[in-house]
Amino acid sequence: MRNFAAAKGLFIVLLAGGVCLSMQDYVGNPALKLYVIECGHNQVTDQSVFSPGVNIGVGREMAINCYLIRHPLGTMIWGTGLNDGLIDKPEGIRVANDNFLITVTKTLASQLEEIGVAPADVKFVSMSHMHPDHSGNGNMFAGATLLIQQEEYDAAFGDDPGKYAFNPKFYGKLGAGPVIKLTGDHDVFQDGSVVIKRSIGHTPGHQSLFLRLPETGAVLLSGDLWHFAAQREHKRVPKFNFSKELTLQSMERMEAFVAESGATVWIEHDIDLDRTLKHAPEYYD
Ligand SMILES: [Zn+2]
Repeated sequence: MRNFAAAKGLFIVLLAGGVCLSMQDYVGNPALKLYVIECGHNQVTDQSVFSPGVNIGVGREMAINCYLIRHPLGTMIWGTGLNDGLIDKPEGIRVANDNFLITVTKTLASQLEEIGVAPADVKFVSMSHMHPDHSGNGNMFAGATLLIQQEEYDAAFGDDPGKYAFNPKFYGKLGAGPVIKLTGDHDVFQDGSVVIKRSIGHTPGHQSLFLRLPETGAVLLSGDLWHFAAQREHKRVPKFNFSKELTLQSMERMEAFVAESGATVWIEHDIDLDRTLKHAPEYYD
């Protein structure tokens, strides 16, 4: 019944938009596609910043991805990666007290072009949070509607974004475009296939993304709720998180959601997972 009501609402939206597709195309099974796009790399010198007291001085490689979602009602980008300008520094740059060596070897712009998507075609831009490895190409999508938790918006566009390690140089234009400020979960296309899940704590308004892909099944892009599998297993909270308490609450809430939805968790920075994934121009459907 709930599905029918959602589909009916969608049908009306489609009619209003003049799009001719039958209701049947949407009920619980929209033709969703997910592209995993390489958006940089991070060589960490001391991984214990993510797991206080554990693996001190031990290095770790971390993947940095962007995710393009194509839904019959529009295209969405989740995460905009490190800034494409880093391609001009093949040796990379050191950040986070020199603990991270970040590099970009393929630009987001070139990979979007390869799959035939212009940034202006992107309807929704959203990211787990505004750290520069997720918001680096934010300005590329200035024409899109930003989907962001209210607290993240206040931190990112307030008086002191640097306090949260945010840099508006990369995403500032998004504040001038259309913004939908969220205070909870958000069903982007109103059919349950793409749902933003509030999971605050890493930053003031951190969020994750649930996808129900027709063939692949349910996937949770967990953002930086976790950075690698051991951190999830042992509920370790990075020392630089905005709130340890809120992070632990979000971990608990997301674990319950994962159990209930049967979603496969894709920890975005997990290099071991990343090596098993198909990357653009291939896609998941
Ligand atoms: Zn990150």
